[in-house]
Amino acid sequence: MKGEYKTKPRNAIIEYLKENADTRFTARDILNAVDVEGVELDRSTVYRNLERLCKEGCLVKYKETGVNATCYQYSEGHGSCHDHMHAQCSVCGKIFHLDNSILEDASAKIKKEYGIEIDYGKTVLMCICQECKKK
Ligand SMILES: [Zn+2]
Ligand SMILES: [Zn+2]
Repeated sequence: MKGEYKTKPRNAIIEYLKENADTRFTARDILNAVDVEGVELDRSTVYRNLERLCKEGCLVKYKETGVNATCYQYSEGHGSCHDHMHAQCSVCGKIFHLDNSILEDASAKIKKEYGIEIDYGKTVLMCICQECKKK
């Protein structure tokens, strides 16, 4: 919006998220990285905004194995993270947003065999990404 010079914390955070859409980060990373003049950012502001973005489905939140922190990753152009499955690299922790349609067959089979339905939004497949496979 033109004429709007005051940057709100939320906008500053979203800027950061967009620039780092492929990487995971913690609330502390944001606190350290986001340094916009005139924006008051403290721990609780960051947490509050991250929680809200998670609820809106723009952000996927997960517990990192071995790291005592909650990590986040931004989802842009993947739709709501509440509606699809994710895969996580067990080495670097990177999150991949999966298209549910790839799993339609498996989902139908699981439902038929076991009588259960997959909750896509809560499912994370563990994997090893290409980058980590090269190492
Ligand atoms: Zn997602
Ligand atoms: Zn990896």
